[in-house]
Amino acid sequence: MVQLSVLGVGISTESAMPGYKVVRGRQMGAERSYERVICGQPDCEVEAADAFASDVRLCVFHWQKAIRDFNVATETLRAVEFERDRKVNEVVPADAERLKWSCPACGERGTLWVDGLVEVTRCALCAYERDEQEYRRRMTQSHLFRAFGKSVVYYVRFGAYVKIGYTGNLGRRLSDLAHDEVPAIEFGARKLEKRRHGQFRASRHTREWFRMTPELVDHIEELMSPEALQSAA
Ligand SMILES: [Zn+2]
Ligand SMILES: [Zn+2]
Repeated sequence: MVQLSVLGVGISTESAMPGYKVVRGRQMGAERSYERVICGQPDCEVEAADAFASDVRLCVFHWQKAIRDFNVATETLRAVEFERDRKVNEVVPADAERLKWSCPACGERGTLWVDGLVEVTRCALCAYERDEQEYRRRMTQSHLFRAFGKSVVYYVRFGAYVKIGYTGNLGRRLSDLAHDEVPAIEFGARKLEKRRHGQFRASRHTREWFRMTPELVDHIEELMSPEALQSAA
């Protein structure tokens, strides 16, 4: 309850809703109470105009002020967006591949771009920069880490060949198996292993060993793309 002085009589108010002040009191000395909605602006006691909106009640003067403030805020926002777009267009080469996701460092959307020649992803608005090769290597590493102790189909390269196999213990399997690298793994069991063996039968060298054909290389790259790893995480 707030004490107010309106019409020269003792009046108390209560806030029914934000922007509302309902006034009760005695008028002209008569013992009758009345209700009036007055402007929701602090320190304004003018009757609210009811022609504008039902959830925020303001007097005519404060409505006009609110509309002016809103227009100024909108203009300011437009100017900020315009300036940002101008800056981005200045930094990003016309032929750069723009990415749709937001910058991990500053959170700006649609401002990351890939420099195709050296494969670096940059933010046009902040200092964020990422070596894509290094990033993929780290992603692959943490993906492999998660696979230990789980049922996986692994791709193990040794020389010019890739072994596609299934294991429930990748750590033990890798210690038994001579290999140069583990270019990919995917979560799954025997069924998935069978499916992959069938899918790449044209590339088959011996039982579980396959030649590095473009189809198999594409498949491995797809499995370990940042997008695929993110959705597997
Ligand atoms: Zn007002
Ligand atoms: Zn950024």
